[in-house]
Amino acid sequence: MSHQQTVVLVDADNTLWDTDAVFQEAQLLLLTRVEEEAGAACRAVDRLAFVRSYDQALAQRHHLHLRYPPQLLVRSVEAGLAGIEPEAASREAISGRIPAASPLDQVGVDAIVSDYVQALSRAPQLLPTVAEGVSVATHARLRLYVMTEGRIEKQKRILELHGLLASFEGVWELTKERSQFDRVVSRFAGSRVVVVGDQPDRDIFPAKAAGCSTVLIPSRFKPSWQTQRDQEEADHVAVNFLDAARWCVKADAENALGVG
Ligand SMILES: [Mg+2]
Repeated sequence: MSHQQTVVLVDADNTLWDTDAVFQEAQLLLLTRVEEEAGAACRAVDRLAFVRSYDQALAQRHHLHLRYPPQLLVRSVEAGLAGIEPEAASREAISGRIPAASPLDQVGVDAIVSDYVQALSRAPQLLPTVAEGVSVATHARLRLYVMTEGRIEKQKRILELHGLLASFEGVWELTKERSQFDRVVSRFAGSRVVVVGDQPDRDIFPAKAAGCSTVLIPSRFKPSWQTQRDQEEADHVAVNFLDAARWCVKADAENALGVG
């Protein structure tokens, strides 16, 4: 029986491209805009860490996780500038209670959200070695797919912008849960499926539970809930995308020889 080419499912944000840099810029803009509108200054030395502490608290509390509505971040940061801790600020923002003394009306909040969303729509840069890694993988005839919890059209546009669209057989919108990875595994029955991503809890754990091989490329963006031990769950922890691609090529070759 001839060997079936390995299927590689690649996460998009912070694995292929630097979504984190886009978020950094947008989050700093949001802080500046809230400061202006609220007439209060952030006293934290690390302004980005300040915004992110409120962002993380919201993501942990809200049922949409990191996709919570951005106006909640505006309200939380506003509360933060008034000295409210992230936990309490996120609870109040999600409950919809607006501080009695808030100088920010809904029009002001909407204007900041609009600037923030526009800043987030900027196309991210490819991460280092991604172009080389994709080339190594396609040369070895691995079957590449992008998996995203975001919108397919947006990911396709970014792939196209960077000249990578033709290297991928498809882009899938997929909730990163065990059941969805189970479906991928049965769709490609007979092939090895490798999942490459930057977030242990989203990309690695559910894929591994479904029987996929897993490669983690740790990103700069480390949510507060991620631990060092989480990283060790992956079959391989890669230093960059090229390293991940080489591991996939090697795994595919071993498969062809019936090793491992
Ligand atoms: Mg990611």
